[in-house]
Amino acid sequence: MLLRHTTTEIKDRTALTVNPAKTCQPIGAMYAALGIHGCMPHSHGSQGCYAYHRSALTRHYKEPVIAATSAFTEGASVFGGQANLMQAIDNIFSIYNPDVIAVHTTCLSETIGDDIPQIVNKAMAEGKVPAGKYVIHANTPSYAGSHITGFAGMTKAMVDYFAETASSRTKTVNLIPGFVEPSDMAEIRRMAAEMGLETIMFPDTSGVLNGPMTGKYRMYPPGGVTVEALRRTGSSLGTVALGHLASGDAARALDVKCKVPCQILDLPIGLGATDRFVDTLHRMAGVNVPDSLTFERGQMVDIIADMHQYFYNKRVGLVGDPDQLLALTKFLVSLDMAPVYLVSGTSAGKKFEKHLRAAVAGVPHEVKIKVGGDMYLFHQWIKQAPVDLLIGNSYVKYIAHDEDIPYVRHGFPILDRVGHSYFPTVGYRGGMRLLEKILDALLDRKDRDATDITFELVM
Ligand code: SF4
Repeated sequence: MLLRHTTTEIKDRTALTVNPAKTCQPIGAMYAALGIHGCMPHSHGSQGCYAYHRSALTRHYKEPVIAATSAFTEGASVFGGQANLMQAIDNIFSIYNPDVIAVHTTCLSETIGDDIPQIVNKAMAEGKVPAGKYVIHANTPSYAGSHITGFAGMTKAMVDYFAETASSRTKTVNLIPGFVEPSDMAEIRRMAAEMGLETIMFPDTSGVLNGPMTGKYRMYPPGGVTVEALRRTGSSLGTVALGHLASGDAARALDVKCKVPCQILDLPIGLGATDRFVDTLHRMAGVNVPDSLTFERGQMVDIIADMHQYFYNKRVGLVGDPDQLLALTKFLVSLDMAPVYLVSGTSAGKKFEKHLRAAVAGVPHEVKIKVGGDMYLFHQWIKQAPVDLLIGNSYVKYIAHDEDIPYVRHGFPILDRVGHSYFPTVGYRGGMRLLEKILDALLDRKDRDATDITFELVM
């Protein structure tokens, strides 16, 4: 029992988090920055933070993750990191020649109070930023928020720094995909392309963190949204933002800055959410839904009909980031499953919790929800009354192991499996894959538990 110290008895805790269900802001900011073509993420803080953030992303995506650091030592920690950042900007443009440096802060530089725009302006005034190159920034103090708020902050920075107001509108639709896998971003773009839409997706890590093996290392892979495309987001017809927490800020900022109207939706996980995504594109751009997408939808409905008997009334425990958690919960409820324990590590506010409670209002079990919770409490709930299935990131596997519960990996980080960055779980196709994974986990367990008498070929 790896988690043998988890007690069944629950005591109120306010100041202590055990087994957090989130990680720190700069990781999300770094991930978003990698979704700009030719961008070097830069961590303004000490080397330890930067090494941790890079390794967290590398372990999840199984790809080399580039980034630079201001490499604070004792001097910078006391007097501020201006000199370090100025030197870093000079070095990075001279040696690595990116189009953009995306600076995010850390706990240390935020505590000192370094003013990043002031430092960048000074660097520009001293000619350290070459013509046609850019330095953008997001404040990402990790004593607040999580990797999701860091992602949201850097995505909004793309709007703040690049989006340009235009006198006329194009027919392009902006897509803000949320904190999802590169494969999900590609799938969201593919579906919009099937509908004949021109889109600008930002950030876009597809082709960056799930590219092909070519035998050649490219510091800046072909993927990612270009600065030129980011400029054009201000003249688009509208914006579809997926995930309220990860994408909402950028969508609203673009509306305020360039008067580009936005629709903020759930992540398109599951049939209902994907329908709403497709319908929003259809209405916003005035295009028809093609037969190809109707066909995929029909396949998903057919699979759900075939699988429903195995899903019915199964108790599920979920740990996830807010946008993922809400979309997944709605999906499971639509399958007649019973999400009974829901934990989000990120404190996403009362409105989010209200939505989550509304999503499970019809579940015929007692449902426990903790927004801003941890996996210790989640484990305690399971000890008190078990579930049939667990869904969450790799850290959930310790609970699955100790309590012997079928388990599907989903979310961030997934450190002990490969493939998630290549196969989507959004859209109709992604939904079918997710359904297959859930059913495999449940039926593998049934096979494993079967006696010689109850072991069946046809289930
Ligand atoms: S929590 Fe703060 S100090 Fe720790 S790695 Fe993240 S940014 Fe660095």
